[in-house]
Formats: sequence, structure tokens, C-alpha cells
Amino acid sequence: MEKQKITRANSSSLRAKRRRKKRILRRIVIVTYYSLWVLFFALIIYFGSSFIRSHFFDSSDSISAESKIIMYKGNNNTLDTSPTTHKSDSSTKAKLEENKDPALKQKITDDGKLIVCIDAGHGGNDKGCNTKKRNEKTDTLKVALEVKKYLSQKDVKVILTRSSDKYLSLEERVKIAKKNKCDYFVSIHRNCGAGSGFETWHYSTPTKEAESLSQNVHNNIVKYGVSKDRGVKGGTQEDPTTDYYVLRNTTMPSCLVELGFLNQYRDNLYFDEKYKDYAQAIGDAILDTYKQYHK
Ligand SMILES: [Zn+2]
Repeated sequence: MEKQKITRANSSSLRAKRRRKKRILRRIVIVTYYSLWVLFFALIIYFGSSFIRSHFFDSSDSISAESKIIMYKGNNNTLDTSPTTHKSDSSTKAKLEENKDPALKQKITDDGKLIVCIDAGHGGNDKGCNTKKRNEKTDTLKVALEVKKYLSQKDVKVILTRSSDKYLSLEERVKIAKKNKCDYFVSIHRNCGAGSGFETWHYSTPTKEAESLSQNVHNNIVKYGVSKDRGVKGGTQEDPTTDYYVLRNTTMPSCLVELGFLNQYRDNLYFDEKYKDYAQAIGDAILDTYKQYHK
């Protein structure tokens, strides 16, 4: 009798052990099952978003607004680390104002041609804004060459700061414009970072003619179509009282265009379809400004 009781007790504890094992096993299976689903969805979200980014936003290596400003100002030794504010440097300001006086600066070559300096931003090892698929330096050169082609047909002498993929410091660009006694200076760039659309920059305290040049260039380009009109602005992205190097140091009416964001799919569609139109728009704006002030 006693023996029977022991056997029964043993077999019931064995059954309990088996049930416990089964329960644990079932839990492991359930946890594994749901974990696999979670992993599956995580992978879908990860690969889906990178697909969308690379195909629609092209921002796999998008650049912050801060580094964008540095790019405007060039790389390494050309980096303009201390943009002079007008408040802190009144003598420079007075000098620049004087130099930017159109009556003093507007000179025509001996053969009577208007001289225009077109500055293709970046070049050589300075790619400017870039993604896996494109570089700002290539796009800016494309537009600069087209502006030259267009304005040369209009009997304008066009000086390009660079006509090939070569590196030029910002100082060299300014020097070229001054040495050739250019009547206008237009710097061509493309934007990067968060945002989209087209914008034009002028000197923080522009002359009327420089302001008109910026406005004319801007309006003409907008007429051809842009993804978004970000307006005409003075100063820099970070501070309206500081200036981009080439605008601060050139002495003729000048402006800088940002032809859409290079890391935005739609902006690139606009650029690729319309860059020749944009070049023509810049050329016409220069001629219009000249007529407005000098004829
Ligand atoms: Zn640039």
C-alpha cells in the first residue's frame, strides 16, 4: 500500500515536471515567434526608409547647415573663419561702400563691351555639397559655361573664375573679378541640408544696383520655375550682418544664387531640366540691370 502511494506520488511529480517543461518550451516558441516578426518589420522599415531616402531625397550624406556655410567660404586655407561684421569694422564698410558705388565701378572695356564675371562655386578637391550621385562643383560649372555661351552671343565679355574642374580659393576668385575689371559678379552655387527651393543672396548692405541685380536674377529664375521660392536675402544664413566672402570682397555689384538643394530629388529634377534656362535667366538679368542703371 505504502509502495503504491510512493509510485503514484513519483508519477504525479514527473507529470508536473513534464507540464512545466512544456510550458517553458511553449513560452520560448511564442517569444521567438514574436521576436522574429518584430525583426522582420524592423528590417522592412530600415530598408524601406533607406530606399525612399536614396530614391526620393538623395540625402544619404546630407550636410548640415553649418558645414554648408563653411563650403561657401571654401576649404582649408581659404576658410573665412572670421566674417567681418559691419558693426565691428566701420572703416572696411566705408571702403566697400565707396568701392561698390556704381558710378565709380561701372567701367566698360576699350572695345565697349560689358564685362561680367561668372563664378562657378567650388571645384577640384572642393566638391561643395555632395551626395553619392552628384557634386555641387559639377552643377555650378555647367550653369557657368551656359551663361558664358549665352552672354557671349549678346556681345558681352564673360570672365569665368574657372572653366574646368579645378580648385580655386575664394581670394583667387575675387582677384580674377577685380583684375578683369568686371562690371558684375555672379556666383553660382547649390544648396544642401534640410529644406528645398531656390534663393538669392546679396551683400548685407547692398548698393541699389547690387540689390536690383539680385532681384532681377532671382525673378528671372523663378519665372522659369523652381520647386519653392525662398526669396532674395542679405547677409548669410546665420547672420544678416555678415557676408559671404565673394560678396564682401568683390567691388562690383554682385549676387550669389543657390540653385536648389542638391540633396532634394525634386530640386534636382528642376535643375536638370532647367539649368540652361537658369543660365539664360542670369544672363538676361545682368543685361536688364545694366540697361536699368547705365543706359
Ligand atoms: Zn556652394
